[in-house]
Amino acid sequence: MADDNGRATAVPDAARIRRAPKVLLHDHLDGGLRPATIVDIARETGYDGLPESDPERLGAWFREAADSGSLERYLETFAHTCAVMQTRDALVRVAAECAEDLAADGVVYAEVRYAPEQHLQGGLSLEQVVEAVNEGFREGERRAHAAGHRIRIGALLTAMRHAARSLEIAELANRYRDLGVVGFDIAGAEAGFPPTRHLDAFEYLKRENNHFTIHAGEAFGLPSIWQALQWCGADRLGHGVRIIDDIHVAEDGTVKLGRLAAYVRDKRIPLELCPTSNLQTGAAASYAEHPIGLLRRLYFRATVNTDNRLMSGTSMSREFEELVRTFHYTLDDMQWFTVNAMKSAFIPFDERLAMINEVIKPGYAGLKSEWLFR
Ligand SMILES: [Zn+2]
Repeated sequence: MADDNGRATAVPDAARIRRAPKVLLHDHLDGGLRPATIVDIARETGYDGLPESDPERLGAWFREAADSGSLERYLETFAHTCAVMQTRDALVRVAAECAEDLAADGVVYAEVRYAPEQHLQGGLSLEQVVEAVNEGFREGERRAHAAGHRIRIGALLTAMRHAARSLEIAELANRYRDLGVVGFDIAGAEAGFPPTRHLDAFEYLKRENNHFTIHAGEAFGLPSIWQALQWCGADRLGHGVRIIDDIHVAEDGTVKLGRLAAYVRDKRIPLELCPTSNLQTGAAASYAEHPIGLLRRLYFRATVNTDNRLMSGTSMSREFEELVRTFHYTLDDMQWFTVNAMKSAFIPFDERLAMINEVIKPGYAGLKSEWLFR
């Protein structure tokens, strides 16, 4: 098969996966720092809490902590990344490097989220946090362009579901909506903190005709997904992977969707699936058993995402490599996931359409035609 690797029907190799245009909707800024940057900023700002001072060992520590199955250790990883994201310079640097890293990985459009309320310990205001991150994204887009990659990044402002600042953060997202912020999100532990606690924020955003996604259905299951959609009015589901609990596959292979799963598919509700992250948190046992295989076969609006690149030791290319290895996906499958994601982005319709027709489809067409020129 090596000589027709580029055909639409062929399984792409790692190099092609990296070169293929990709779209990322679910990525946490505080989950994607370069280990060397964490070490640098910790030194500059006098943060002495890091478990390792060597970047390579620190990177390994993050992956192991996230893999450990211990929620305490998993949360500790974010305490360290947030600790080095408390100054304007640090936020600009982290955001710029995020854009560069995604662009070098072949991502052409990304929505990257962060919680402004977690970056106030150095005395910045919520507005200063948003402006610093925006500046970093723009700088990263410029550097990526200079290095031969085009990427566009939109920010999502996250409110923490255990805190009580969601309306304030929603207002902040609305104030910066034409200035680099494309939407809003709620994140944090699902159990005990249902999204309905933040109804005022969601109702505000709906009145403002603004967009939001909600972390739901990662660990907590169908009630969380149902609330996010039918009570809160989420445009997309952060994860949403537990929708699988409402899909019944009989022994002869016939599939029956429950009312909620049918609604999600019929209404084309985007699922921000994050396979590797789900394996670490135990939401799926293996790539082969990950619901993404069935959800793709059933034509749900499934998208592929990284969640936390540092903690999961992942990238968009690595996520696709695992899926290609497991499900024998082709360039056509990759394009399907990528177009799904672009259709589901929070930027205006005409821009999404142009990204699909002028960037994504030509990119895949180029890769698929390469076998002709050997
Ligand atoms: Zn997430």
